[in-house]
Amino acid sequence: MNLIRKKIKFDKKLIDQDALNIVKKMTNSGYETYLVGGCIRDILLGYKPKDFDIATSATPEQINKLFKRSRIIGRRFKLVHIMFSARKFIEVATFRAGNLKTSSDGLVLRDNYYGTLKDDVFRRDFTVNGLYYDINKSEVIDYVGGLKDLEILKINMIGDPSERFEEDPVRMIRAVRFQAKLNAKIESKLIEAIQKNSQLLAKIPPARLYEEVIKLFHNENSIVVFRELFKLGLLKHLFSQTKENSFVTASLINTSERIKSGNSVTPAFLFAVFLWSPLNKRLSQISKKNKSRIELMLEASEYVINQQTQQVMMPRWLSSRVKDVWLMQYQLENYNPKKSKTLIRSPRFRMAYDFLVLRSESIDKDVKAKAEYWTNIQK
Ligand code: ATP
Ligand code: MG
Repeated sequence: MNLIRKKIKFDKKLIDQDALNIVKKMTNSGYETYLVGGCIRDILLGYKPKDFDIATSATPEQINKLFKRSRIIGRRFKLVHIMFSARKFIEVATFRAGNLKTSSDGLVLRDNYYGTLKDDVFRRDFTVNGLYYDINKSEVIDYVGGLKDLEILKINMIGDPSERFEEDPVRMIRAVRFQAKLNAKIESKLIEAIQKNSQLLAKIPPARLYEEVIKLFHNENSIVVFRELFKLGLLKHLFSQTKENSFVTASLINTSERIKSGNSVTPAFLFAVFLWSPLNKRLSQISKKNKSRIELMLEASEYVINQQTQQVMMPRWLSSRVKDVWLMQYQLENYNPKKSKTLIRSPRFRMAYDFLVLRSESIDKDVKAKAEYWTNIQK
C-alpha cells in the first residue's frame, strides 16, 4: 500500500483545544506528533469524537518532562496521561512497533518496543483506525487505504485478518462495534475469519471482556451490535445463556434511546435483562423442597451469575445490583400498599421499577397492571 498524504482542513472547532495544544507543544519541541485513530475517523465522517489520542516519537519520559500535569501509566506498555481536570485527561502514546519479530526457530530478532510512525500504523487494527493527522500541514497520513475505506464505509483489517484476530481476538468484537457505529460493512474476508476464529474469545480474560462489553452495548446502535454478534457466532462466547427475546430487544433499544437523550445508563440493567430468562429457566429446574422464595432466588441467581462470569467478569457491585433488581421484582409484583412509600424511597427502586415496566411491555405482559400501580403511585 502506498503512502497517501491528503490535505484536509478540519474545522478547528471539531478538535479539542487541549489536544491541539499538546500536539503544538510537542512539535515545537522537535518531536514528530500526530492526532491518531478514532478521532480522525470520526471527524472525517462528521461525528463528534469521543476522545483524542495522540501518537509521537517522544518517549514516555520525554513527554512526562514536557508536561507538568502528566503521569506515566502502564507497565508493559507505557503511556502518558496529561491531566486537564479531575475527569479529563488526554492519552499520549509513543510510536510502537508491533509484535516481537522472531525468526523461524522462535529467536527474537528485534525486541525494541518503540518504533517509527510506520511501525505504529501497522500495529493498529482496522484501516479506518490507522489514520494520522499532521496539524501543521493540515494533512491526513494514510499508509493503509483508510481514507478509501472510510469513503466506502468498509471495516477492513490492516494485514492478514486471521493472523491479526489470533494476535488479539478482541478485534473481532471491535469490528462489530465499528460496523454498527459507522454504519459500515465488514469486509467479507474478515467475516470468514471471524466465523472461523470466534472461539478464540474464550482465551480473553473476563475482566478485559467486561470493558469491551460495556462499549458494545452502551451506544446508540446496541441492537445492531447484538444481532450482528449473534449472526457471526460471537454472542455465545460472551453471553452463552442469552438469546434475543422481546425483553432483550426492548432494553437494548431503551439503552440507546437513553444515551441519545443524554440520560445515564448502568451496565447492571443490561446484565439483569440479559440474564432474566436464564434465571427463570434455572428457577424452574431447581428443587423447591424446604426452601424459601428468597433462598430459591439466590440459589438460581448464584448459578446464572457464576455461568456468566466464566465469560465476562461482573464486578461485585454489579452482580449485587443485578440480584437486587431481580429480588425486588417479587416485592413490586406482590406489593403491600401500606409499605409502598417506603419501597419507593429505596435507592434500588428506580432500576427495579424500570425493569418491571420494560418486562410488562415485552415478555411479561401480565404484570402490566402492577407496573401501572407503581407508575401512578409516584405521581
Ligand atoms: P472509540 O474511542 O470510538 O471507541 P477508537 O478507535 O478511538 O474508538 P480506542 O479503543 O479508543 O478506539 O483505540 C484507539 C486506537 O487504538 C484505535 O483507533 C486503534 O488504532 C488502536 N487500537 C485500539 N485497540 C486496538 C487493538 N485491540 N488492536 C489494534 N489496535 C487497536
Ligand atoms: Mg478512542
